[in-house]
Amino acid sequence: MQEGTFAGSAGRGRDKETTRVVIINDFREKNRSMQRINLKALSKQEMDAFVKEQGLPAFRAKQLLHWIYEGRIGSIEEITELSKDLRRSLSGVAFISSLRLLDRQTSADGTEKFLFGLEDGESIESVLIPDKDRLTQCISSQVGCAMGCLFCLTGKLKPKRNLRAYEIADQVLSVNRLIQGRVTNIVLMGMGEPLANFDEVVEALWRMAGPMKISKRKITLSTSGIAPKILELSQKAPSVNLAISLNATTDEVRDRIMPINKKYPLKVLMDACRRFPLEPRRRITFEYVMLGGVNDSADDAKRLIKLLKGVPCKVNLIPFNPFAGCDFERSPDEAVARFQEILLEGNITALIRKSKGQDILAACGQLKAGYGPG
Ligand code: SAH
Ligand code: SF4
Repeated sequence: MQEGTFAGSAGRGRDKETTRVVIINDFREKNRSMQRINLKALSKQEMDAFVKEQGLPAFRAKQLLHWIYEGRIGSIEEITELSKDLRRSLSGVAFISSLRLLDRQTSADGTEKFLFGLEDGESIESVLIPDKDRLTQCISSQVGCAMGCLFCLTGKLKPKRNLRAYEIADQVLSVNRLIQGRVTNIVLMGMGEPLANFDEVVEALWRMAGPMKISKRKITLSTSGIAPKILELSQKAPSVNLAISLNATTDEVRDRIMPINKKYPLKVLMDACRRFPLEPRRRITFEYVMLGGVNDSADDAKRLIKLLKGVPCKVNLIPFNPFAGCDFERSPDEAVARFQEILLEGNITALIRKSKGQDILAACGQLKAGYGPG
């Protein structure tokens, strides 16, 4: 019995006895909260098991999942469908975690950036981009990123940790709650390389497509190109859209700006893309950050057409967003326009993506939550 630990040190006598009781209660409280289960961290199967363990009927699992993922609640107390007694007893053994909103900034173009605090003191950023009838949220999958792409601020910082599935999905739940609305599209293009945190990302995708009822067609995962995981993704989370951060047309340049290319060079990456199963009329998106004098020549555009041959695809040309201390320059507008023209002539759909939220450092490659100013 743990109590014994305290009995010896507290000794006898009335005051000491009182102290001992307080210490024991403190300990129990601490221990109890340490053991309380975070319902948001549970998968569907784990929720079923939890409900059974509590002696509750099986339908309670579905009910809890519904309230957590659709009811926009922050605590068990808010589940008004449950009796007060049940809410009290559940709160004794379980809780529902929430991301802590640390900051919220709005850009002149309507883009919003949310800084969320995690339980261990780390923080992440999420970006909300309104566009006509769409509300797209760009979410993070890791704190930092270990891929070290030279043109990306996140990649220049020390990688910290993977996010858990519930922390990934909770970015969407939290934003829905904050805006009292509903995000319609999700892109995993925030901080981190999603395929380097594969299992948690797959579980998060299931939660979004399952209890959160977001169509998989409206979820896009962007990767720097971990080739074997691209194929595994098609098996474990079918129908999710795939985006590839290509950014170069030769191994020489890609090796230099995206170190992952040394492990999975262009041929291996493009093979994986060719084998990625696509439903009719679906396409892979290739993102191409335009770096002045590095990857923006007419020859690059022609090589890109060859690389993409036979892959149902579209290309997003992204003007480079500079940051303090970076070694690259944005391609001139004329170079971007010329590049697009060549792709279009080669029958490749190519869009020039407007960078949104630059004034609040919310644009692609500018996220650096938890790393302070500078
Ligand atoms: N790690 C994943 C997803 C996050 S990065 C990936 O690399 O795909 C999201 C997108 O931002 C990528 O397409 C990346 O090429 C782009 N990006 C990174 N840094 C950028 C910058 N400084 N300017 C413009 N786009 C950038
Ligand atoms: Fe990581 Fe993507 Fe940035 Fe590369 S571009 S460092 S993979 S977040």
